[in-house]
Amino acid sequence: MPRASVLPSDELASQWYRAIGRLFEQLDARATGNARSPAAGPMRCVLIGLGCGHALLALLEHAMTRHAQGRAVELILLPDRWPAVADLNDLLDGACRAPPPGWDALLAGWPAGLPGLHRIMLPDPSGRRLPLRVLAGSGEPSGLLRRLAAPIDALAIIASHDPARPESHAGLLRALKTCCRPQTLLLHADAGALERDAIGRAAFDLHPAPSDPQGWPPDCAFASRRGLSRPHAADRTVAAPATVAVIGAGLAGSVCAAVLAREGWRVLLIDGAEHPVAGNRQPRLADHPHLSPDDNFLARLSRHGLAAARRWREPGIRPGRLQLAADAQEAWQQRRACEALGPNAATLARPVDAREAAQLAGLPTGRGGLWLPACEAHDPEMLARAWRRSAGIECRFGAPLARWSRHDDGWHLLDPQGRLLGRADALVFAAAGAVPPLARSRIAAANALAMSGSTARTFPDSLPGTLPELARLRGQSTRVRASGLEVLRCIVAGNGYVCPLDDGTALVGASTGAGGDEGPVDADDHANIARLARLIPAFAEPALPVQRLGSAVGLRFSPADRLPLVGQLVDDVALHANWRDLARNDREPLPRVDTVHVLAGLGARGSLWAPLGAELIADRLAGRMPAIEGDLLDAIDAGRFVRQRLRRTGAG
Ligand SMILES: Cc1cc2nc3c(=O)[nH]c(=O)nc-3n(C[C@H](O)[C@H](O)[C@H](O)COP(=O)(O)OP(=O)(O)OC[C@H]3O[C@@H](n4cnc5c(N)ncnc54)[C@H](O)[C@@H]3O)c2cc1C
Repeated sequence: MPRASVLPSDELASQWYRAIGRLFEQLDARATGNARSPAAGPMRCVLIGLGCGHALLALLEHAMTRHAQGRAVELILLPDRWPAVADLNDLLDGACRAPPPGWDALLAGWPAGLPGLHRIMLPDPSGRRLPLRVLAGSGEPSGLLRRLAAPIDALAIIASHDPARPESHAGLLRALKTCCRPQTLLLHADAGALERDAIGRAAFDLHPAPSDPQGWPPDCAFASRRGLSRPHAADRTVAAPATVAVIGAGLAGSVCAAVLAREGWRVLLIDGAEHPVAGNRQPRLADHPHLSPDDNFLARLSRHGLAAARRWREPGIRPGRLQLAADAQEAWQQRRACEALGPNAATLARPVDAREAAQLAGLPTGRGGLWLPACEAHDPEMLARAWRRSAGIECRFGAPLARWSRHDDGWHLLDPQGRLLGRADALVFAAAGAVPPLARSRIAAANALAMSGSTARTFPDSLPGTLPELARLRGQSTRVRASGLEVLRCIVAGNGYVCPLDDGTALVGASTGAGGDEGPVDADDHANIARLARLIPAFAEPALPVQRLGSAVGLRFSPADRLPLVGQLVDDVALHANWRDLARNDREPLPRVDTVHVLAGLGARGSLWAPLGAELIADRLAGRMPAIEGDLLDAIDAGRFVRQRLRRTGAG
């Protein structure tokens, strides 16, 4: 039992307040000294474990004070247990302290404890929002720490560790090597001789004991990591929000414009169509999350997508999705997928039998499956219009972008006739299948400038693009009416989906095939009606004829791996100039066009990927730690296909 537990709680709370205060004072000193440029992004502080909550409260108080003074701070929690909201309030009561600023937002946004990184934004008294990330998951904290996609400046380890497993504690400290900066500060609770030894071996120098040991948490060690401060790969100078041009006003571009406008950017939203229609003209887009027993990339990413989508839209009228199991084997896989999510799985999905499935759907489905209460279906055009109405967005439609180039006053955007559509400090390409050719058009623009004598530099037209061509898949959905279908309560999905519409009709979809989006095809409507009959067998009966009311055709664009393309554009010119070096060392960061981002290839999951991608781009432009794990970030990175090509060259 640590000595801490015998101290009165308020005394211990004050001690932690002082200890975390000292940590922040050192961070303050560094920010004002030369060790680290204040423009290099926020100070990132991690708390491992919750203990009796004193360190968490102290961290929030000190961070919020700094934040209200204009300092950029980010907090990351790795709780060693998952408290419910009521338990968090108990922590506060136990510490006998007033709630720190942002406490209510913390409680309101406290995640349900599904594995992965969770995002909460805490408003400080001036209304600015401090990002808090909570990382949940089973396994060693060292493994979780390695999933953070940005370096740490300060760390407090409160988690009690098993003295019988010193290797686990040593592993945690070793993990700091990859995710800490040189000079990262460490506060370690309950640090006996063994722990101090491990701290020293992990290249941390212990600081001398404080002059007032009574005012310090018992056995708490303070240390800083050895090594000279040098830039981390994820560090970058953060530009103050100015003007960003978003190209494409579909689902992706519209939500991206809204997210960036809320960050304070002036947004120019450009679309080639006079009247862009979001969501491939579909009356509803349903959330299609993926679950898998091994909780794979797609499953983890779609959880992030669902959480992001819910932050950016009003709650749906008839929420919930029933994912029917095709057979016993799939039902077993579904149960295993829920088990993989741990004890809080039901907030995302829980297995239901055929009887409960029928109750939830309002119609007999004949089989059970998974119930996903958080999924919804929305009218994409209504969503996009609401997003585009956000303050700070200027829309310019009927304005196709053809080329773009860098000038002293920012990026210039030109239409096919060479007319200037606008200027911006940053760009986001969200024009679906047009993004890869648009990304390449910078070369043509630069060469045109050279031809006109504006610059001396030309580039070979033959440079291959850094984005893959996106596969194009035609799709058609069918709006149907049938007697009894009006009582359908939720999305029912299996091989295809049926989704209730507000007027008692339903949308069934969707076909997948080659071809363009010229017009509907009868065969696809019939295939959709057959889908409905498989999902709700009553509609296979001739006594319940299904009437076709209309069809909506569109194109889905995806890269070969079916994951979206999100992130900074790779700099094609710098890439090809340094190709050999990069192929030799695949740890070297890819050269990027710093202020140009991509959000494309959303395939059949635009409803999830568009808000998630928009938030990730906003994180990047603001210099914040991305709110998804590093391996997921790599999996959707707009540079991943370049990385693959480099690896093949390096291996060859
Ligand atoms: C039949 C069908 C059913 C679907 N059902 C679902 C579903 O249930 N759930 C789901 O999540 N997803 C679904 N999808 C997929 C979803 O529609 C897409 O993922 C999403 O709409 C893609 O959005 P986007 O903004 O990337 O592309 P788009 O909506 O295509 O927007 C791209 C915009 O860029 C503009 N643009 C193009 N080139 C230029 C240029 N040079 N200059 C300026 N502007 C340009 C275009 O005019 C367009 O407005 C479905 C798709 C189909 C076809």
